[in-house]
Amino acid sequence: MVQRCPACGARHPGSERCRRCGCELHGLTRLLAVARQAEREAVHGLLAGEISQAQRAAERAQALDRQGLGAALVGFLAWRGRQS
Ligand SMILES: [Zn+2]
Repeated sequence: MVQRCPACGARHPGSERCRRCGCELHGLTRLLAVARQAEREAVHGLLAGEISQAQRAAERAQALDRQGLGAALVGFLAWRGRQS
């Protein structure tokens, strides 16, 4: 779900088209859904001990959405790698 319209900054603008300015948001909504899926794959990989798989998924999520959970997962996995 898009939290802010990238064009006008409206909060919770909707998923298809911004209610305030009419900006088309469908593509961004789809991209964020792919980022959320990559985040879930990263968490599942981490819980299963598949660290390299988790890292790849977290990096994919971060590349799609720098403000999402992917960035935190990349940081955590890097920290974890330094501890071992
Ligand atoms: Zn807008």
